[in-house]
Amino acid sequence: MKIVIIDKPYLERLCKIQNFFGPADAVTAKMLEGAEFLGKEFYLYSKIYEQMNLEINRLGKNNFWKSFSDGKNIDPKLLSLLKKLSYRSSNRTTSIREISRQIQNNLPKFEKNIKKELQTNFGFTLPTKIGIILGNTTSISHSSASALSYEPILIYLEIPSYKTKAVGVILHELLHTLIDQNKSLPADSNTFEEALLDYFVPNGIMAQKLGIVPKMKLNELFEKNIKDRPYSLAASKKLLKIIKKYNNTSHRGTIWSFLKLHDSLPKKTKQ
Ligand SMILES: [Zn+2]
Repeated sequence: MKIVIIDKPYLERLCKIQNFFGPADAVTAKMLEGAEFLGKEFYLYSKIYEQMNLEINRLGKNNFWKSFSDGKNIDPKLLSLLKKLSYRSSNRTTSIREISRQIQNNLPKFEKNIKKELQTNFGFTLPTKIGIILGNTTSISHSSASALSYEPILIYLEIPSYKTKAVGVILHELLHTLIDQNKSLPADSNTFEEALLDYFVPNGIMAQKLGIVPKMKLNELFEKNIKDRPYSLAASKKLLKIIKKYNNTSHRGTIWSFLKLHDSLPKKTKQ
């Protein structure tokens, strides 16, 4: 698996704005209306976000992010908006260059086991190439990530410094892209997918098996997951029983067949 760190300032700014506003349907009218009041820079964010979503709708997210990561055929309107942003350099202690180096050095150490875990739990093949866009973060504890596209696989990652735990964060996003790629799997009813993945990585049973986080009882994991992601409460609660069973079953097959067997796989599939 080749890890490519993509370092393109406009791409990073775009990811940062998307990460800030969240998914398109999560932005409230109130938030967008407030932008004008909050000043020029914030107003620009909202304009960029708006234009970005128009372009994603027009091109599809894979083509959109590919054009930005290649630096080719970028929408001129979006580019001119991005150029107007002032860019603050961060006062982080670990440089992006150092984090890139550590990811590229450390991720391959887990490759063999990741390959096995992806195959046995999800029936997925480890991709040959993953593109990671690293975002600046000035905060000490905050870290977040998002899956951008599956063709090519692009993941946006904001971490203040590299720790082994970052492997789990990358894997969580990678799983989103692989699920997205697989059209026969249930549509992302977002709460279900998040709740399910949280039982595997970054803190779940897969992360524990890989040895990147300490062992945790499934009830504790449930408490942690819903604290970090309160909207997944109902889905997490439902899945807890199934995951307990799954964890205690040998020759259990993939989680998809297990969920199907227990009539717990959402019925709706992707278009
Ligand atoms: Zn997620």
